[in-house]
Amino acid sequence: MSVTAVTGSASGIGAAVCQQLREAGHTVIGIDRQQAEVVADLSTPQGRNDAVAKVLELSGGKLDGLVCCAGLGVTAPSASLVTSVNYFGSTELIEQLHPALAQGTNPAITVIGSVAASQMAAQPHPMTELMLSNDEEAARKAADEADGPHIAYAASKYALTVHCRRLAVKTGSTGVRLNIVAPGAVETPLHEASKNDPRFGEAVKNFVAPIGRNGEPSEIADAVSFLQSKQASFVHGSILFVDGGMDSMMRNGGF
Ligand code: NAD
Repeated sequence: MSVTAVTGSASGIGAAVCQQLREAGHTVIGIDRQQAEVVADLSTPQGRNDAVAKVLELSGGKLDGLVCCAGLGVTAPSASLVTSVNYFGSTELIEQLHPALAQGTNPAITVIGSVAASQMAAQPHPMTELMLSNDEEAARKAADEADGPHIAYAASKYALTVHCRRLAVKTGSTGVRLNIVAPGAVETPLHEASKNDPRFGEAVKNFVAPIGRNGEPSEIADAVSFLQSKQASFVHGSILFVDGGMDSMMRNGGF
């Protein structure tokens, strides 16, 4: 039976991914701050190390899938926390769990990015380079000094996407596929909190995808389930926008 670890398993998109994977017959090891097989805080190096150790213990050191969903939005307590969870909480787990995945059957990693990363594509904020050079302390400082947590959010998702695309080139020969799903607005507690935030609420509510509605967590999980399946055996290093057309609305001068 296929064994897949899922971060952010307790809520929203991660919970929907867990449900679908379980229904498809996977054994799922959920990782979250609460209500999970592995309770860990992915915002700190110690928490990430603890999470990896427990996943390796539960999986016997061999893993077939990893889905990185854990993330914080613009209402997080600080921009530095957004940076630590969204970027380092995924990249460090991928790095440390890669050897276990390389021993798996048809192994695959899916990382949840965001359509917000597109905002940085033309002109990335300098903090993205700090993330990409693995300097968590400097990246956290730059995030807190930036003009609002939405900058750190977009930067963390942009850097995560770039990191994964570069890693996919390096690690393809290990047989571990690695792809990114970039959701648009999806009805989850994270999105609800953004809608209710006095700083960002109006803008979030007015930013409607061309398809005319927000997504449901299960619609993102559908894409993740596909990427984690054998049907996606030649899909590697890709960004799959599941956003009701938001990215094409923002960037339609080329591709
Ligand atoms: P959510 O708040 O419902 O779920 C996020 C989960 O991550 C929660 O269970 C939370 O406990 C967990 N988490 C947060 N910090 C953690 C930490 N330090 N350690 C361990 N777990 C932690 O939000 P969601 O909308 O389902 O978000 C899932 C992913 O999708 C995030 O990466 C988010 O950035 C991304 N995303 C969401 C939207 C959207 O509109 N909802 C859009 C684009 C991208």
